[in-house]
Amino acid sequence: MIIDLRSDTVTKPDVKMLDAIMKAKTGDDVYKEDPTVNELESRVATMFGMDEALFFPTGSMANQAAIKLHTQPGEQLICDKWAHVYNYEGGGVSFNSGVSCKLIDGHRGMITADQVVASINPPDFYHSPLTSLVCLENTTNKGGGACYDIEEIKKIQKVSKEHGLGMHLDGARLMNALVAKNEDPKMYGNLFDTISICFSKGLGTPLGTVLVGNKELMQNAIRVRKVLGGGMRQIGYMAAAALFALDNNVVRLAEDHQRASEIAGTLKKCSYVKAVEPTDTNIVIFYLKEELSEEKFMEDLLHDGIRISNMGEGKLRIVTHLDYTEKMHEKLLEVLKSYQK
Ligand SMILES: *Cc1c(COP(=O)(O)O)cnc(C)c1O
Repeated sequence: MIIDLRSDTVTKPDVKMLDAIMKAKTGDDVYKEDPTVNELESRVATMFGMDEALFFPTGSMANQAAIKLHTQPGEQLICDKWAHVYNYEGGGVSFNSGVSCKLIDGHRGMITADQVVASINPPDFYHSPLTSLVCLENTTNKGGGACYDIEEIKKIQKVSKEHGLGMHLDGARLMNALVAKNEDPKMYGNLFDTISICFSKGLGTPLGTVLVGNKELMQNAIRVRKVLGGGMRQIGYMAAAALFALDNNVVRLAEDHQRASEIAGTLKKCSYVKAVEPTDTNIVIFYLKEELSEEKFMEDLLHDGIRISNMGEGKLRIVTHLDYTEKMHEKLLEVLKSYQK
């Protein structure tokens, strides 16, 4: 038995999802003739109370397209120092949009309205880049699945509006936040100009991210997607998986959160663990005591068939997901409790 907890992207479609994929009605989506893609896009737009949605192959491409829609070359966006758009999208911000990032030293990947205000370059000071966009992440990835307090997002939105800045949400795991905090997606639709939502993380599809947004910005999204090479043909097969996931895999995210919190609780009691970050959703980040190296610990876990991630700077990461069963959970807790270096 391999217990793969490196990421929630390692899941494979089950028989029911495969069945939904097999039964999908498809067409050429580049001509906008795929009925299943059209259904998914309109369903997600309605869910968030936004005008339009567009299906992308990956979260990175959806974020990169959004940044392109919001900015002009030479401009600057504001994000946390741990943001996915800055750290894990291959430098796409500069490659695709010619934009730089003003990095904020936030808390667990989250930033505040005061920090945003302090990071805006005065627009009439032509020596510095023009600030044009704020990118938030919810839940945070490197920040350990932390969820924003919606009141802080409202404050950020207010200052962004005052300064004419766009608001993009990297919502790769937004569904986890919505479930954890029992929030209404329409609140988010109200606060952001664009939001990306991944289906290939906790929702368990092989691929796909939907970008939702207001009409004015989204009008050019299909062109930007084409430029980035993201125009797809009979991709309704994957949209069918996403529709299936919306119906079947959202509410159950609470199980992933519960198991993650049990893992965190167990780790806290282990003598070889130095610290465990707060665990709000499905990501557990923890640190080992100095005498035990991350490499040795990970190698030892591998002997028990358990795979986890090393995020650097001493951070180890465990992510729970759809394919992580109760049996695996019991075994993991047992291995962690009895581990001896
Ligand atoms: C996974 C992830 C993405 C998108 O990644 P892809 O691998 O390109 O789909 C974007 N933002 C965050 C926070 C993520 O965790």
